[in-house]
Amino acid sequence: MFISFDGVDGAGKSTQVRLLREWLAARGKQVVTCRDPGSTSLGEKLRDVLLSHHDVPIHRRSEMLLYMAARSQLVEEVIRPALERGECVISDRYLLANVVYQAHAGGQDCEQVWQTGRVATGGLMPDLTIVLDMPAAAAKERQGRPPDRMEAQGLEYMERVRQGFLKEAAAARIPIVVVSAAQSPEEVHAQVLRHIEPLLARGAAR
Ligand code: ADP
Ligand code: MG
Repeated sequence: MFISFDGVDGAGKSTQVRLLREWLAARGKQVVTCRDPGSTSLGEKLRDVLLSHHDVPIHRRSEMLLYMAARSQLVEEVIRPALERGECVISDRYLLANVVYQAHAGGQDCEQVWQTGRVATGGLMPDLTIVLDMPAAAAKERQGRPPDRMEAQGLEYMERVRQGFLKEAAAARIPIVVVSAAQSPEEVHAQVLRHIEPLLARGAAR
């Protein structure tokens, strides 16, 4: 089973990845968690370029391709091997984030980003993507650290990101559910489980 969490920064992705990992582990599942971009040697280097270097000019298309390169490595080095071992994979972001940040909010062509994503991932998509939704301004308030390069693009951009996630959820090109992130972490986790439990049951029946 392959699950990804997405949503604006501060929505609670890292928190929910942790809660779901603990819940699955308590049920005897082997769980691999990762973050996209990152979780490989190459991916972490690219992540550093993408998120930390405010002084390196990066065109939106170059940006999109750097994310894709990181993801391609993540799929081959981490995700596909774990799934082949029969383990659960939980990723903090995945291709959908690229579609939303670079296309919906960044002006690149949506279709092109999806297509490039299929090439980069060899077509490997999550069984379910959980979008944690809340107003960008409220999410920003939750963050107790200075903004990274993507976040530093301002609230208007972040609100376009939020709307992009909602549009993609409605379009449902891949299995996506939206969960309100404007509740306590435990309440969000409970909502997440309502979507995960049927998936697990289906997996067990196979
Ligand atoms: P993300 O990974 O999406 O940026 P985090 O999980 O790191 O978000 O959460 C951002 C901050 O908000 C953290 O300090 C975290 O403890 C807090 N937080 C996470 N979920 C909630 C929630 N449901 N309600 C209130 N605060 C939260
Ligand atoms: Mg996080």
